[in-house]
Amino acid sequence: MNLSSNNIEHLLTTSDPVAIDDLFAEACRARDEVYGRKVFMRGLIEVTSHCRNNCLYCGLRRDMRCARYRLSKEQILDCCRTGYELGFRTFVMQGGEDAWMTDERVCDIVRSVKQEFPDCAITLSLGERGRESFARLKEAGADRYLLRHETADAAHYALLHPAEMRFEHRMQCLQDLRDLGFQVGCGFMVGSPGQSIETLKKDLAFIDEFRPEMVGIGPFIPADGTPFGHEPAGSVELTLRLLAIIRVMHPHVLLPATSALGTMHPQGRERAIGAGANVVMPNLSPRDTRALYSIYNNKLATGSEAAESAADIRARMAAIGMEVPTERGDYRKTVV
Ligand code: SAM
Ligand code: SF4
Repeated sequence: MNLSSNNIEHLLTTSDPVAIDDLFAEACRARDEVYGRKVFMRGLIEVTSHCRNNCLYCGLRRDMRCARYRLSKEQILDCCRTGYELGFRTFVMQGGEDAWMTDERVCDIVRSVKQEFPDCAITLSLGERGRESFARLKEAGADRYLLRHETADAAHYALLHPAEMRFEHRMQCLQDLRDLGFQVGCGFMVGSPGQSIETLKKDLAFIDEFRPEMVGIGPFIPADGTPFGHEPAGSVELTLRLLAIIRVMHPHVLLPATSALGTMHPQGRERAIGAGANVVMPNLSPRDTRALYSIYNNKLATGSEAAESAADIRARMAAIGMEVPTERGDYRKTVV
């Protein structure tokens, strides 16, 4: 498929349903060739809602006056135990940039999880850190790191973040993670304030060049009380097109059907799979902390048990002809 700059613009803006159906079909073909009809499950554990940053879009930003929590190592291990029983073989530990999460503490958690579950992959998503810190986390056993670049346009980045957050540092972190041997995930919100076709083209060009192992994209959803709390949400349709373009551009990428899509549309995750996604991330966090991890309004599945959400995801995937295997689901360099 032609993914020239002009054609990307056409695919992002056309109202021709045939062109979009062709794009989705091509994306699914590309995915199936590398991974087969499989969707990999990751257990999301929201380890801390404390954050020192003040990203303008996020409900966990420093200036939000809200109840905060962090999970103890025992609580995290309990989430993993529940998840392991349910067939999860990847645990994603995500949280705000919390100074309490020192290298020592995170490494201890990573080592303990690896010791108890040596057949599982650990993904960390704890924001920006220094290269030395990333190196320690890798050494402790972390396999993957998710750090969305948020936008590949420096001026747009400056509009979404306070001045102390530097675009160059975000990009440096991604490069450091790559150099240290992590499977790396970047990504962005679709429809964030200030985004344009031009900034999206830069995002796609960055992904094409960087070739990350994972790309997380989902619609921007306003969060009450943030500077962007009254901005319109991003479009589900545009998110699906972008997922498909990313899959066609980079057939090997691990591409989640994000909860933000599921929040915006009851069939959002199924539709993402139909556009070439191949990862789902049900929430394994303790029920009583989920409501406190409120990145945006009406976050999905706040109350359901881990077992319930895993069963729900399996049923949804089976209904669209996809298998959910009990495996780590690592990045594949070669085709099946
Ligand atoms: N603190 C870490 C970081 O920023 O990488 C990880 C947690 S952060 C909540 C994870 C992702 O949530 C961010 O990369 C951002 O893209 C997304 N996010 C934050 N606010 C959002 C919003 N209002 N709508 C949709 N996604 C949002
Ligand atoms: Fe903190 Fe991440 Fe939210 Fe930014 S996006 S405020 S770093 S939790």
